[in-house]
Amino acid sequence: QGHVRFEGVQFGYDADRQILKGIDLDIPAGATVAVVGPSGAGKSTLARLMYRFYDVTGGRITIDGQDIREVTQTSLRAAIGIVPQDTVLFNETIGYNIAYGREGATPEQIAEAVRGASIAGFIQALPDGLDTRVGERGLKLSGGEKQRVAIARTLVKNPPILILDEATSALDSRTEADIQATLESIEQGRTTIVIAHRLSTVVHADRIIVLEAGRVVEQGTHAELLREG
Ligand code: ADP
Ligand code: ADP
Repeated sequence: QGHVRFEGVQFGYDADRQILKGIDLDIPAGATVAVVGPSGAGKSTLARLMYRFYDVTGGRITIDGQDIREVTQTSLRAAIGIVPQDTVLFNETIGYNIAYGREGATPEQIAEAVRGASIAGFIQALPDGLDTRVGERGLKLSGGEKQRVAIARTLVKNPPILILDEATSALDSRTEADIQATLESIEQGRTTIVIAHRLSTVVHADRIIVLEAGRVVEQGTHAELLREG
């Protein structure tokens, strides 16, 4: 479950400017695929199309053979978890921020979901408990801590498909390395699309796609790409 395909995907925000110019990707269920390339290549756009923030203007995206335009928004959002680069947190408790999107969840249910998603270690790495308030009157979270909350928020959904859109790019390299190990462990068993800045953070990917100006210009394993220079 979680076989993702892009078939001739084209997209433009404006009719007169094509951003993605025919993308074909076949990501087997459970595989990790990294998408790298220069800024402006269309990497984030690819992620937005999967979540249907926008619809493709040509071709199609399927999950387990079904066109995502035929899936309800609720099931699409249950199937896919996205961790963005910059996370804006509410001036509420850490628990509230993690449970955001899970309307009606009680603090006990949140705590239970956090344990169930095996992300308790994430929470322990935060300065305080789930009931600590984020924001100017309470705690100021660092960039790394905010990303831990964002990752926890995504993981309590336990999505079979995970999109990490430069989830650690804004962090210093030490914090990035810290979070990286945890990210790699939560990618296990999920179809994962990692949008990355540095090739060095995606050594573990089954396949790396190089996107340039809306086209896949190269793909292979990390070793293969290094060999080809
Ligand atoms: P090659 O084309 O170089 O022979 P393979 O197709 O054998 O490479 O795949 C190498 C690795 O990449 C394997 O671990 C395989 O599971 C994984 N893989 C193959 N195709 C894809 C894909 N489309 N997406 C993600 N991983 C893939
Ligand atoms: P990347 O993630 O590879 O840096 P993006 O997918 O963010 O690239 O952007 C690809 C191109 O689409 C860029 O030229 C960018 O300026 C343009 N773009 C991104 N978002 C929008 C938008 N909401 N409206 C119009 N153009 C956009």
